[in-house]
Amino acid sequence: MKTIIVYSDELRNYDFGPGHPFRSNRFASFLELYREKIGDNKVFELVKNNEPARDEELELWHSKDYIQTIKTASAGITIPNLYRFISQDNVNPITGEFPEGIEKATRIIVKNSMLALDFVQKGKSEKAVNIGGGLHHAKPDYGEGFCIYNDVVITARYAMKKYNLERILILDTDAHAGNGTCEAFYSDPNVLFIDLHQRGIYPGTGFINEIGEGKGKGFTVNLPLSARTSNESYELIFDEIILPLAEEYKPEIVIRYGGSDPHPDDEITELGLSLEGFKMIGEKVREISKLCQNKSVDLICSGYKQDILSKVWLSLITSLSGVEVKLEEPPLKVKSDEMLTETKNLIKKVKENLQPYWKSMKK
Ligand SMILES: [Zn+2]
Repeated sequence: MKTIIVYSDELRNYDFGPGHPFRSNRFASFLELYREKIGDNKVFELVKNNEPARDEELELWHSKDYIQTIKTASAGITIPNLYRFISQDNVNPITGEFPEGIEKATRIIVKNSMLALDFVQKGKSEKAVNIGGGLHHAKPDYGEGFCIYNDVVITARYAMKKYNLERILILDTDAHAGNGTCEAFYSDPNVLFIDLHQRGIYPGTGFINEIGEGKGKGFTVNLPLSARTSNESYELIFDEIILPLAEEYKPEIVIRYGGSDPHPDDEITELGLSLEGFKMIGEKVREISKLCQNKSVDLICSGYKQDILSKVWLSLITSLSGVEVKLEEPPLKVKSDEMLTETKNLIKKVKENLQPYWKSMKK
């Protein structure tokens, strides 16, 4: 069965301007590589949507005040206390202004993540991908880390509301901890949130002992990785932690998100995941999705070097869909097993923390 890939022309406006690491040309360069490598392969279907999410949909996570402020700022109106609502890395670095048109673009991104979920839930495809999704740092009243509205949280809440889902597995493979997503579901057992990220970098959250609270205790799993952690470590974490937890949790859907920033050539972090590693992630998510009638939603936007970004995104999408594609990659500077001992220690500690809540972590 096919994979639907949702995108929008309006993604060109999700752009913080020259000198900012998050530029919108990423989307065009991905689509170019997609067309070159995938062509008219019938496994995939590109679906374009330019309809934005409505206020009441954004309010599944964001406050009315915040939405109004973002809307006003994006219309070019000066907001005197703008930095109460967004961080300084969420504006144009040269003008200091909030980019015009970005509010609508981020609303469309939210809508596209919701549409991806709809396609899967309604049986139009087993898998759906939103190019532009995964804005995991956005908080209810605060936009940071290049994220304005948090499509991950909104989509998971939409899944609960519209489809009565009670067990959603969210897997964050972005190199940065998903602080917004983590906060949203910290006391909610309807989401099992598993987050792999480099430790000690922005946003400074995602410690090993952050495992949720109240009814959600044991349903947040943080895997803070050392710099230079690579493929073998990631694979071990999938086999020792993620797959056993997923089998025990029995998710009704899998939502994975994150782009190319754990790749060493992406250069924004120091992780060492190669294209093979991303392919492995796609294959593992494909395997996990067998627990829920092959249903999964993939949200992809991060990455800061054009060339590697497109290849990583394509690698994630094709491996998730069981399609082989040849992609060239320069030899890695990082030896794949350099951090393996450290990862084994991390796995041991994570298992100890989770043992009171999960039988599968006792093995
Ligand atoms: Zn990131």
